[in-house]
Amino acid sequence: MAISVLSVASEAYPLVKTGGLGDVVGALPAALAPYGVEVTTFLPGYPRVLAALEADAAHGKRARTRAWANAGAQGHKGDERGPGLLRAREHDGSGEVSHGLGAPLHRWPDLLGAPAQLLEGEIAGHRLLVLDAPGYFAREGGPYGDPAGRDWDDNWRRFAAFARAAADVAGGAVGGERYDVLHAHDWQSGLAPAYLRFAPPAPEAPRTVMTIHNIAFQGRYDASIFASLALPALAFAVDGVEYYGGVGYLKAGLESADAITTVSPTYAREILSPDFGMGLEGLIRTRQRRVSGIVNGIDTAVWSPSADPSLPARYDAATLDRRAANKRAVEKAFALDVGDGPIFCVVSRLTWQKGMDVLADAIPALVERGARLALLGSGDAWLEQAFRDAAERFPGQVGVRLGYDEALSHLLQAGSDAILIPSRFEPCGLTQLYGLAYGCVPVVARTGGLADTVIHANAAALAAGVATGIQFDTVTYESLVGAIALATDLFADAERWEQIQRAGMAADFSWATSGRRYASLYRELLAA
Ligand code: ADP
Repeated sequence: MAISVLSVASEAYPLVKTGGLGDVVGALPAALAPYGVEVTTFLPGYPRVLAALEADAAHGKRARTRAWANAGAQGHKGDERGPGLLRAREHDGSGEVSHGLGAPLHRWPDLLGAPAQLLEGEIAGHRLLVLDAPGYFAREGGPYGDPAGRDWDDNWRRFAAFARAAADVAGGAVGGERYDVLHAHDWQSGLAPAYLRFAPPAPEAPRTVMTIHNIAFQGRYDASIFASLALPALAFAVDGVEYYGGVGYLKAGLESADAITTVSPTYAREILSPDFGMGLEGLIRTRQRRVSGIVNGIDTAVWSPSADPSLPARYDAATLDRRAANKRAVEKAFALDVGDGPIFCVVSRLTWQKGMDVLADAIPALVERGARLALLGSGDAWLEQAFRDAAERFPGQVGVRLGYDEALSHLLQAGSDAILIPSRFEPCGLTQLYGLAYGCVPVVARTGGLADTVIHANAAALAAGVATGIQFDTVTYESLVGAIALATDLFADAERWEQIQRAGMAADFSWATSGRRYASLYRELLAA
């Protein structure tokens, strides 16, 4: 019999995405279906998500693929930016739920302080449940903050309500539904396993999995909110939701879940140490036997150079020469001089985690080697300014687009020669996987998922024809410039460069292997 999983997350591509979390949650249903796992995705009812449901209902179908793709600074990650991308649904301010859809599956008259109801739809052909709660989610801005990028003051309540509702749905309190497994992603869903443990809606609670997509975002709040969470007093404990005297949402999930996963084996090891665990390393060490690292896959329906609708020229490993047309398009889009030298690209949040400060320092050295840079990103204001300055200082050699642009991110992978990813830590990282699939050679820091997915072009790997990219050890100016130098040297030998590109394109980062691993984890939990 199929295993039923409620996948609980604050983002899912194509409806809402600020980073890799959205990509992964969006890909899971299709990734797990071949292994007898039926995934239902549970999302907050942001205006764009409700609009998609309404449009589907109006069209007499539920599947919908319009993207609400946008990024921002931090938040999960970020607060969604870009005026006009998201408009709050009109509602009368009474807090009453209202929508243009059929009858809801369930109503909560008072879900931690506001009314809410459960709606049903589809996402990419799989079941979607949406928590429609205008008091929490009918707002202009991003998933986590206002249009100016400030986190909402009541994020603690918004995502507590979301987690409470998810626990009710998975635990059997809603319309006779019950799920075998509740799979929570990141801090926004972290309280869901805690609700099932401390306040289950029915005696037999589902098994729970907590996945860490990025341990830097923890959902940490003052102890005073505890009284409003509707948890029993005993939950405020060291082995409960209490975290350094306050309340920790991710911590609560890690403490309560039956299994913990993170998104690469190396990151699973790294977070055992204080340098990477960010305060949670002790807890993770005590629960180490329940921790596993399962590397993310890529959604090949969205990321395949031979079928990508956003490219001027589609290609595969046998027709790499067609990339030239995409390279010309990158030059045009980023106002770069036309040339034969390598183009390095960046598609990233502009933050310290991503090593963007070190990259900004390395730009003169990159340009000096005859290379060009095309950067697409948004994030910290001072980094945005540093890249603006670099574009001004090196016209024709450095092109910068500040903002979020899904189509342009595809073009960069398809037309640049290499992608720079100097992350100080990187739980999995998806842009290097897209780079591999697109023949855009990843130049990466040796950490987390970057260490696990790129084969460094040392002499032995080159001789064996297995090298897929370049790795460097510490995120310093010297090591990054060294890696850029190695890449430009390798690029000068066209045959060798193509060998690296083809080896990357031949690597399998589809969801096949990882989908199977999640499925067997669920099976083990259910058998236990
Ligand atoms: P993280 O989730 O830490 O930001 P990942 O590499 O896991 O990093 O995922 C980032 C995702 O967001 C990728 O799909 C990447 O292409 C996309 N992305 C990041 N910044 C931008 C941008 N400015 N425009 C378009 N896509 C972006």
